Amino acid sequence: MPDQIKTDCLIVGAGPVGLFAIFELGILGLSAQVVDNLDKIGGQCAELYPDKPIYDIPGLPECTGLSLVENLQKQIEPFKTQFHLNERIDAIKNDKDLWLVTTSKGKVFVTPNIFIAGGVGSFEPRKPPLENVTKYEDKGVSYSVSDKNFYKDKKVIIFGGGDSALDWTVELAKIANQVVLIHRRDEFKAVNHTVKQMRELVKEGKVILHTKNQIEDVIGEDQVKKCIIKNNEGNLTEIDCDEILIFHGLKMELGPINDWGLNLYEKQIEVNTENFQTNLPGVFAMGDISYYPGKLKLILSGFHEASLAAQEAFRRARPDETLTFRYTTSSKDIHEKLGVK
Ligand SMILES: Cc1cc2nc3c(=O)[nH]c(=O)nc-3n(C[C@H](O)[C@H](O)[C@H](O)COP(=O)(O)OP(=O)(O)OC[C@H]3O[C@@H](n4cnc5c(N)ncnc54)[C@H](O)[C@@H]3O)c2cc1C
Repeated sequence: MPDQIKTDCLIVGAGPVGLFAIFELGILGLSAQVVDNLDKIGGQCAELYPDKPIYDIPGLPECTGLSLVENLQKQIEPFKTQFHLNERIDAIKNDKDLWLVTTSKGKVFVTPNIFIAGGVGSFEPRKPPLENVTKYEDKGVSYSVSDKNFYKDKKVIIFGGGDSALDWTVELAKIANQVVLIHRRDEFKAVNHTVKQMRELVKEGKVILHTKNQIEDVIGEDQVKKCIIKNNEGNLTEIDCDEILIFHGLKMELGPINDWGLNLYEKQIEVNTENFQTNLPGVFAMGDISYYPGKLKLILSGFHEASLAAQEAFRRARPDETLTFRYTTSSKDIHEKLGVK
């Protein structure tokens, strides 16, 4: 039986809404643990449009997806919240007034409150439909990097032509024994600066580049040993490797959330607008994943939803205490929680 992690609230999703929920829970004195399927926080803002300007966050005339996430991160610093990245919430199970929440890595959380801030569902990597690619997952084939030092002195093949593929090509070229970048086109979709850096590394012989090639097969025993690629003319090339990283983009799937017994409305979770609770007591939904008549899929709507859900979460986590409404400016208690002197 794995160790159980107790928390006042388990947040599914570290997008902008999940991050702000930490703040709203924190100022009420509630602890939170956050699980996200991606390798970084920020949800759509960080993954889909880090450099795009946003103009409709109250009090911030202009920010980018990334700077909004950085500011939210700063705002929740006082609460020292634990994030469990690269991990997906797979199942939830009711146990009297508590919920047992299980992740894809087998962790179990025990909590009276679950906040589902899962956006459009979990971002899942697009995988080449090849039997041996699936067979060697976690035996040399990966779709994200959790610890770059793992690749030190190894022979790495990277597939893809977007930001992730190029960022990791440039980064891993510093520590890996060899980096081979393979892309099906000649053009790259990453930011110009990184493409330029990658091309310099190719000129210096620190990165080997194969364009107009795609993955054809993976060969190994217990662990990956070689990768076969195929060019547009059908010619095959065999390349030795220790690790293969595939960055073919992400698709969004509601995934396991479908099976939790929640009332759904077209891939969104139905909630009431009083406290954003779902049909399951103690399970709340907020941000893009929640549905109620008039719902707007905007970041600011999610912030409002998180703040009302936190109030009800307090009542469930501290049934013997009274919740008194206070402004953050005038409450000594909140100042202490935020470390304001
Ligand atoms: C190009 C673009 C531009 C936009 N511009 C604006 C704008 O200008 N203003 C604005 O207000 N909104 C804008 N939006 C919409 C805004 O990004 C969303 O409203 C916002 O990201 C929703 O936040 P969220 O936290 O609900 O979900 P998301 O940002 O989608 O984050 C959800 C997170 O949950 C994780 N997750 C899901 N399921 C699971 C699971 N089972 N286990 C673990 N993790 C899980 C996902 O990996 C993801 O990281 C834009 C969207 C796009 C695509």
